[in-house]
Amino acid sequence: MHLYVERYGCTQLQAETDMIADALVRAGWEVAKSPESADIILLGTCVVIEHTERRMVRRVRELLEYSRPLYVYGCLASVRGEALREMGAVPIPAWDWGAVKVHLGVEARDMVPVRGAVASIPIANGCAGACAYCVTRLIRRGLESEPPEVIVDRVRRAVRAGAREIRLTAQDTASYGLDRGTDLPSLLRAVLEGVRDRYRVRVGMMDPRTALRVYRDLIDVWEDGRIYRFLHLPVQSGSDSVLRDMRRGYTVSDFLKIVEGFREVYPDLTLSTDVIVGYPTEDEEDFRETVRLVEEVRPDILNITRFSPRPGTPAANLKPLPGGVVKERSRLLTDLHAGIALERNRDRVGTVDTALVVEPARGGVMARDSTYRPVVLASGYIGRFYRVRITGYGRVNLFGEVTGPAGPV
Ligand code: SF4
Repeated sequence: MHLYVERYGCTQLQAETDMIADALVRAGWEVAKSPESADIILLGTCVVIEHTERRMVRRVRELLEYSRPLYVYGCLASVRGEALREMGAVPIPAWDWGAVKVHLGVEARDMVPVRGAVASIPIANGCAGACAYCVTRLIRRGLESEPPEVIVDRVRRAVRAGAREIRLTAQDTASYGLDRGTDLPSLLRAVLEGVRDRYRVRVGMMDPRTALRVYRDLIDVWEDGRIYRFLHLPVQSGSDSVLRDMRRGYTVSDFLKIVEGFREVYPDLTLSTDVIVGYPTEDEEDFRETVRLVEEVRPDILNITRFSPRPGTPAANLKPLPGGVVKERSRLLTDLHAGIALERNRDRVGTVDTALVVEPARGGVMARDSTYRPVVLASGYIGRFYRVRITGYGRVNLFGEVTGPAGPV
């Protein structure tokens, strides 16, 4: 019996889809390369913006053409369950492990999927925020953190299975533990102490609002070389009034305090942030403040999303800005950041670092240096660490050469 899997969405949703796929493989299913050679199809879905949702619905229609049982897991199933059923698919809402068991007959929650040298491990579901535009909050209601000992055990199993990069994921990793009287720094300490092997941890996205509570402690925990000096801290806007309208629960100076705190101790930190352009209340001056913030902070990675109203959210009731204005703001910011990214990567040329090879890439293999920057190498074994010198750069990738095997951690 063969299973065809396709998955979209954030790291967390992809990890959850892989957990289900691995549980099916453990139960005797084999993975098919194409939908036509499969007996059932599993589709992991996302609805973060309107465009994505439309794409997901289109994909459901296309896959239904193969006349195989189609299991639609994730966020589309959470918001459009009834419509999916009417179309002839089986919806399984995000994080509904009971429904996975009912429909597919497997226990998936405790699976630890390893792909190449990477294991993505969800540490919590949902978030504790109240953002006015976010559909995820409606899908993954409340916050449910996994027990620390369960996560430590999953990391141990992943490392034993060959994973060397552990991605700890959640909708907001900084809110980890708020529902069980613990926090992210304590979890990271437990992982690092409980699993003493050589590996690296990528801590996923954290909201500035919750990160404010724990960032000083996190800066201390980062000292262990096994945590990538990488911070994904979505600011969303450089204007305090827009942040207030978005109900983000922090100010621009809170965001800066966290970034500066990390950069003071780790000047080479890789900073990734997200911006929503064209929020309905964003006027020209608000947008200019976002531009100024990007110029000041110079993030290594900037994810730009055009505002998209999601049904059921308070922001969906606001009058949207003209499409042309939003498009233009998005273009301006994209161009601005392209230059910044190039300069920041150029500054890395000549540096020597220890990099972990994680996957094949065009022209060789993809490695990650200790700050999670992508480094393309001509060759290397997946899952091995190397000393690497940076010899070239592009807007996204660095290029490097191996100078020798990596020494002790
Ligand atoms: S949680 Fe949000 S980003 Fe992740 S798959 Fe669901 S809608 Fe997409």
